[in-house]
Amino acid sequence: MTTTTIKQMKNWINGEWVDSSGTETETVSNPATGETIAYVPLSTKKDVDAAVEVAKQAFLSWADIPVPNRARLLFTYLQKLEEHKEELAQIITMESGKTLTDARGEVQRGIEVVELATSAPSMMMGEALPNMATGIDGSVWRYPIGVVAGITPFNFPMMVPLWMFPLAIACGNTFVLKASERTPVLAGHLVELFHESGFPKGVLSLVHGGKEVVNGLLEHPDVKAISFVGSEPVAKHVYETGTKYGKRVQALAGAKNHAVVMADCHLEKTVQGVIGAAFGSSGERCMACSVVAVVDEVADDFMELLVAKTRELSVGDGRYEENFVGPLIRKLHKERVLSYIESGIAEGASLIVDGREIDSQLAEGNYLGATIFDNVNNEMKIWQEELFAPVLSIVRVKDLEEGIALTNQSKFANGAVIYTGSGKSAQTFREKIDAGMIGVNVNVPAPMAFFSFAGNKSSFYGDLGTNGKDGVQFYTRKKVVTERWF
Ligand code: NAD
Repeated sequence: MTTTTIKQMKNWINGEWVDSSGTETETVSNPATGETIAYVPLSTKKDVDAAVEVAKQAFLSWADIPVPNRARLLFTYLQKLEEHKEELAQIITMESGKTLTDARGEVQRGIEVVELATSAPSMMMGEALPNMATGIDGSVWRYPIGVVAGITPFNFPMMVPLWMFPLAIACGNTFVLKASERTPVLAGHLVELFHESGFPKGVLSLVHGGKEVVNGLLEHPDVKAISFVGSEPVAKHVYETGTKYGKRVQALAGAKNHAVVMADCHLEKTVQGVIGAAFGSSGERCMACSVVAVVDEVADDFMELLVAKTRELSVGDGRYEENFVGPLIRKLHKERVLSYIESGIAEGASLIVDGREIDSQLAEGNYLGATIFDNVNNEMKIWQEELFAPVLSIVRVKDLEEGIALTNQSKFANGAVIYTGSGKSAQTFREKIDAGMIGVNVNVPAPMAFFSFAGNKSSFYGDLGTNGKDGVQFYTRKKVVTERWF
């Protein structure tokens, strides 16, 4: 793996690095230091056309490669990712700002999806029913769909692209990736290692850029499916445009994840879990815990411990192990979050831990310390909207029923967690809560790769989520055969 692409990023098309035809670039900076680490081109529709054409040609032969042979190449890729684990984690920290511990976790979660994709021979199997009528057999066969495009966010530069292309490619499709222009460096390394694993040219391409590339992919007649992960307004746009152009689309969107804390929970472990989920990766996770509805009976004890433990968290450059909260991705994002904090104060919430009070040496960076508001209600913007920051809102509720009813008023429904010692409360929560991914006494209920991943309501546009059986269904089309032989 080389680092020659670090300064001026290029597109990867037809098995080589090529210059974008775009004339504009964006600066990629290290959120911890402000240092420039790369320039990423804003590619054009011309670049999209070139990548899609190559992918379309490559599909003709790639789809014919036997499934176990496709999977075998992924074992090589898996090995390469394992060998470069630490280097990949360091790049993630450098361009996204998340701590090295979080980055190492992300690398592991990404690798787990490649492990899943190596099981394509079993996962792609169809179904059969012999003798479904006299002398007649029925069966279902799965086939790849063609060129698939993936559009990914900044906050998981490794895991989210790996949710997409390994499984799509294992299923016999070819793939064009448009990574986040804020974290494009890691994407370059993923693609380079993929090529070094022996995949034919054109099976995976990378086109850097922003809106123009996204819209070029959405409108391109030869792109058959779109996998998107990002914010809610863009997910909606991607879903509406992609489906208008006749594609299948899975668009995983923004989130506002809630936890309900019951009086019979294990208090210390609950506080530890909430802190990890609310402030880990600086809250820049689609599975971050942003609101806690705590029942009155335990609320004061919970707050006392939560506030004490939060004040111990160290803020700073994620490269250093002692830091728990790293920087936010960009200054502009920090300013947006600061205005949310102002709105929380103006709307009457109690600011208990003020993350704006950080070490003066950090004040110039994109840093924001862990922040806690108490006495929040569902009419406040900080309750309603995704902040994507280390800002936690506490709502006091009288019981489980009120906690569930309140949580279900959110327009988002990605993840939700209950902390309780009662099986009955956990069961009620599972049955009544509206969320795609539910946790019981776990801090971040991000399902492992063999399960599917997607939310409900405004957190997801589409039918089939990523990963697991959903992923295989999304990346394949079916033929149902009814046959009789004389
Ligand atoms: P984003 O929506 O700004 O960007 C995502 C992708 O869309 C990028 O590749 C970007 O270039 C492109 N894009 C941005 N604006 C566009 C526009 N106007 N038209 C066309 N394309 C556009 O998201 P982000 O800030 O990079 O990532 C954070 C968001 O992603 C959060 O909302 C987070 O909740 C969400 N997310 C969701 C999940 C999930 O599983 N639901 C996972 C990770 C992140």
